[in-house]
Amino acid sequence: MIFIHLRMEVHIISPFGFCSGVNNAIEMAKKARKSYSNGIYLLGMIVHNEDVVKELEKENMHIIDERKSNLLDELKKIPNGSIIIYSAHGHPYIYEEIAKKKNLIQIDATCPFVSLNLKEANEFEKGTTIYIGSKKHLEAASFYFNCPSSYFFDIDTFSFLRKGEKKPKHVITQTTLSEDEIEKAMEIIRKEYMEASLEKSVCFSTKSRQDAIKKLPNEYDAILILGSTYSSNTNKLASISIDKGFKTYRALNLEELKKLDLKGIKKIAVATGASTSKKTLEECSSYLESL
Ligand code: SF4
Repeated sequence: MIFIHLRMEVHIISPFGFCSGVNNAIEMAKKARKSYSNGIYLLGMIVHNEDVVKELEKENMHIIDERKSNLLDELKKIPNGSIIIYSAHGHPYIYEEIAKKKNLIQIDATCPFVSLNLKEANEFEKGTTIYIGSKKHLEAASFYFNCPSSYFFDIDTFSFLRKGEKKPKHVITQTTLSEDEIEKAMEIIRKEYMEASLEKSVCFSTKSRQDAIKKLPNEYDAILILGSTYSSNTNKLASISIDKGFKTYRALNLEELKKLDLKGIKKIAVATGASTSKKTLEECSSYLESL
């Protein structure tokens, strides 16, 4: 009897690799390392991927992880004259005043799509904007502090954490939510505030990655989502894949992928979160193709 071993068929879902905001933040950090000999401190995980952050750590940068430390307390401890780099997700602007007093050289790696949200909120009449986001995420937490007149609708509890005095008219969201959860939030918001209209939603990178999974045909045995469990946009990709009924696997990198039980999977599609590198994708897809 002859046994034929068919290799796994692997489809890479596009777009893949770093989004523009993540790529820009990493390049800014690397450029800073080349330009300055002073200590460099990344205030908050500059992008939400542990492997990327470890690579920067190897280049002698100090990472202050917002999951483990209070950023404000840590900022106060940074030696005067050091360099600080703010994360792609933004930062409360109060940090800038503290940094100035300590003569820190400040580099802002905030993604332009994140900054645009605050800019738009400031252009609307004060106190008339509702922001939808997760207060546990640095992007939304920063907005909460930087735009104190705004309403804040928490996506984790689907309830308001803060309300204003005026009637809200405009709604803007954290850049990495899913369209389904925004719709659910809007239904709740409109019950109370009929006039509130969604002005600005997720960023282009988030939307195109989510749409690509939504459009996938049902011919795959499974979907592999590559990215950190701390990455908001990656978590949404996994939720969408599960909601579509796909068997969904998750891994940060090749090491984690090798631990997964992929028995019976013959055809797989692979998606990457916005802070997962092409190198990780290539390593993982080569491994899958070898099975
Ligand atoms: S996911 Fe969107 S908002 Fe976040 S860094 Fe990337 S481009 Fe910017």
